[in-house]
Amino acid sequence: MNFKNNYQKKRFGQHWLVNKKILEKIKEVAELNENDYILEIGPGRGALTSKLLDSEIRKLHAIELDKDLIDFLNDKFKNNEKFSLQQGDILSTSLDSFNNRITKVVANIPYNITGPILDIFVGRLGLIRDYNYKKIIFLMQKDVVDRILSKEGSTNAGALSVRMQLLSKIKKICDVDPSSFSPPPKVFSSLVVFEPFKKELRLNITSEKYIDKLLRVAFNSRRKMLRNTLNSILSNDEINELSESSSICFNLRPQDLSINQWINLADNYIKIKK
Ligand code: SAH
Repeated sequence: MNFKNNYQKKRFGQHWLVNKKILEKIKEVAELNENDYILEIGPGRGALTSKLLDSEIRKLHAIELDKDLIDFLNDKFKNNEKFSLQQGDILSTSLDSFNNRITKVVANIPYNITGPILDIFVGRLGLIRDYNYKKIIFLMQKDVVDRILSKEGSTNAGALSVRMQLLSKIKKICDVDPSSFSPPPKVFSSLVVFEPFKKELRLNITSEKYIDKLLRVAFNSRRKMLRNTLNSILSNDEINELSESSSICFNLRPQDLSINQWINLADNYIKIKK
């Protein structure tokens, strides 16, 4: 099939990255070496794929949902032994057989599935995994990146920022304007690098599970004071006890709590519920 420059399926979130500087930047921040086994999500027409293959990596495996791009991609990279391609939905493809070989994940991600992609690759609280991605390099929606990086007290702070910051080191490299893509998306993007914490650097699994639970309860109504949301899982006496043992005033709202306060809150909650 011959692909015109305007080939694009909106429902698959297809916005081809055309800015050469950003393509180069992605390669640069990936710090590729001969041991790297790259997973690329959504290679599209292969702009980023070409860039990544043009380096000393061991392997690049790509997973693309759009069946109509498969022959094109296979043909484009047919002479490259490092390249392999799989047609499928990244959200339902099992990575079990090669997850422990992947060193880096790179993608200009389809924005409509940002949440589930973060869950799969950056991880989830309460879920320990045995493999370790060294770096996850994503081009994603700027406002989501800003939310992920926000600190307590900002209106952007949310369950997402606490979860992601507990799971990973996160660095925004730069913002990327819509004209860097064809067709341009409606929103700004950012290039971001996640370095998920190794098992040993994570909290214990029980603490993570309880933090996750408390985040869910509290951010369910972010405008309410903590005392008025925690009352769905605690009695009034327990609320007072928890406020005292954790030294957190429950007139605060959830976005006012720092990461350390969430950890502290969960640890004291566990003690009360024992
Ligand atoms: N990497 C390319 C394309 C990015 S656009 C570039 O930078 O130019 C996002 C890509 O993800 C598209 O190719 C789209 O078809 C693909 N895609 C969308 N949903 C997907 C899913 N669920 N699983 C795998 N790929 C998906």
